[in-house]
Amino acid sequence: MSTNNYILNLLNIKDENIHIITECKEKMIKRKNYKIIEGILTYTPEYCPCCGVANQSTNDIIKWGFRKNCIVKIPKQGNCLTRLILHKQRFFCKHCNNTFIAETNLVDRNKNISNNTNHQIRLELMEKQSEKDIAKRMDVSVSVIDRILNEISSHTVLRHPTLPKSMNWDEFKATKDTKGKMAFIITDNVNGNLFDITGSRKSRDLEKYFRRYSKQERDKVKHISIDFYSGYIYLAKKLFKNADISIDRFHIIIQAYNSLNSTRVRLCKKDNPNYNKLKDYWKLIVKNEKDLSEEKHYSKHFHKEISQKEIVQYLINTDLTLKTNYECYQGLINSLKEKNFNKFKAIIFNQNKNLSPKMKQALKLYRENIKYIENSFKYDINNGIIEGINNLIKCIKRIAFGYRKFDHFISRIFLIKGIIKG
Ligand SMILES: [Zn+2]
Repeated sequence: MSTNNYILNLLNIKDENIHIITECKEKMIKRKNYKIIEGILTYTPEYCPCCGVANQSTNDIIKWGFRKNCIVKIPKQGNCLTRLILHKQRFFCKHCNNTFIAETNLVDRNKNISNNTNHQIRLELMEKQSEKDIAKRMDVSVSVIDRILNEISSHTVLRHPTLPKSMNWDEFKATKDTKGKMAFIITDNVNGNLFDITGSRKSRDLEKYFRRYSKQERDKVKHISIDFYSGYIYLAKKLFKNADISIDRFHIIIQAYNSLNSTRVRLCKKDNPNYNKLKDYWKLIVKNEKDLSEEKHYSKHFHKEISQKEIVQYLINTDLTLKTNYECYQGLINSLKEKNFNKFKAIIFNQNKNLSPKMKQALKLYRENIKYIENSFKYDINNGIIEGINNLIKCIKRIAFGYRKFDHFISRIFLIKGIIKG
């Protein structure tokens, strides 16, 4: 291998028309240390790009000096920022009297960021890290990263030909430029993969989205799990004739959980002698009673050794509403856990007057959606799937410090999940 090829290889430059002409120099520019490599780009063109004439001899096209000092950003070598100063051959066509500049696949015309760097940035975007960090490491401006994300977004038409047979619909707070404040997320309940995300959860937009699939394709959907949202239920019934609708278990539990918790918060008043206990032991109150420990430990609030079970018993006996709510909540979460629909039904139809208004409201919501809740007991969906995706979204949002553009946000999610390739 010649020295030239050796250096090109080292720099991962595939174009053999580039000839390195000087040894690598190190230079400080704006307090950053750079490796500077100088090279020329030259070859014999096959034809004139202006008039198309074939280049057969020096009577057609001749070399005509250089466009000097084109600076090309190439990926870091080791830990050092690297620049290639490229002198590009200029040609003159005797047929049309035009000049043109030699081209290379290393860098697009009129650009100074090498395609290698571009590619590297795309790979970096697939990792969980902020765009600012990528820009810093690749020594490009954030707007370069923005531009690349624009390119990816515009080329990403994530259109699956078929719909999942069982899917989950959910929503999350999106970026500022989205139509509605919430984005809509569809997951495949079978393989747990993210299926798609759209910028609006409005019925009109969702209907348009799903109507791109033929009726035949929509009729193949067997199951849709959703939150208690009448808009979703209406839409699911309208567009998916053969699908069973169920409320996912997370969203069932959260209703009773919030009702129980708000009763506790209402009791957390400074003049309540149990204020500190209610405040500090809230986790024990919402925990499944079967998981409470009976082991005694010293408690600074009780000034004695006491078990978790005893603490909860003490606290719920200080208030009748709290006690009634607590028993209702425990019954509900355990009937879900044991997959005992009859037990669940018995609880929500037993209208105890001592329940808090909020818990009564939750039970009413359950009764109104009893059909869909019954399906939740039939379909066993792994809650981990939904949680996993929600965690990913949170994680990306956190590292990105809030995206301004929804398209960019979505592109990153898909890149990181490996659904699209940079
Ligand atoms: Zn020409």
